[in-house]
Amino acid sequence: MHHFESLIKELTPGIVTVLGVPFDKNSSFKSGSDAAPPAIRKALHSPSTNLCAENGVNLGTEPHWRELGDLELPGDSNKAFKEIQRSISQILERDARVISLGGDHSITYPIICAYAKKYPLLNILHIDAHPDLYDELDGNRNSHACPFARILEKEPAIRLVQVGIRTMTPHQREQAERFDVEVIEMRDWHKGIQIEFDGPVYLSFDMDAIDPAFAPGVSHIEPGGFSTRDVLGIIRNLKAEIVGADIVEFNPECDVNDITAMVAAKILKEIIAKMLK
Ligand code: MN
Ligand code: MN
Repeated sequence: MHHFESLIKELTPGIVTVLGVPFDKNSSFKSGSDAAPPAIRKALHSPSTNLCAENGVNLGTEPHWRELGDLELPGDSNKAFKEIQRSISQILERDARVISLGGDHSITYPIICAYAKKYPLLNILHIDAHPDLYDELDGNRNSHACPFARILEKEPAIRLVQVGIRTMTPHQREQAERFDVEVIEMRDWHKGIQIEFDGPVYLSFDMDAIDPAFAPGVSHIEPGGFSTRDVLGIIRNLKAEIVGADIVEFNPECDVNDITAMVAAKILKEIIAKMLK
């Protein structure tokens, strides 16, 4: 971790950092998303493409972003959450911004615990096939199916907008009402929808929001989702200050020809470039 500490000291205000959070102990169905961060980095730097984003930002020459490698995390979930929150807080104390590469979606809870301290009026745009609002799943309140219930219990001031949802259960509909979540279900989504935000936005991107035809490498295949171009459009059209993001639930063990790795890397590239422009 000495490497991480020394990298943190060099961070300048506003810089965008990319941090691997290889933790998948709260996955309810398949493990393997802990291997995602290096796979996404490999795809990002693959000589098959380049580091120029569609908005014109060239990450190959742009100095205002940094890769911080991967956190070393214990297997115990509560201990890992503490370590994730502590590390994110350290980065935010430097006035830097973080894009975290999961890992399963449970990591978003400790990340937001750190963000909510820095940004009391935080908004979250959550793109996912699943609402992840369960009170508990299989007896696990830290499950990757629960992070947004935990977040809104602890930080009720956060405005949560969900997009791409197509697996609502009666329990999760009740939870969405209880926490005043604004849900744009996939069946109601169309290209013209504009989501307005007042104040800083954290973007939480679950790869299974994308249709498995475009991104097969996820633990929970849920047909009927976004095209890759749809989600690039959502990122491009977001009129808000993005202060942080995560890309979670990519599972390299389920991938086909590195398709999903390349899609995750493209989304990462476009989010970094959006945050820098
Ligand atoms: Mn999720
Ligand atoms: Mn999901």
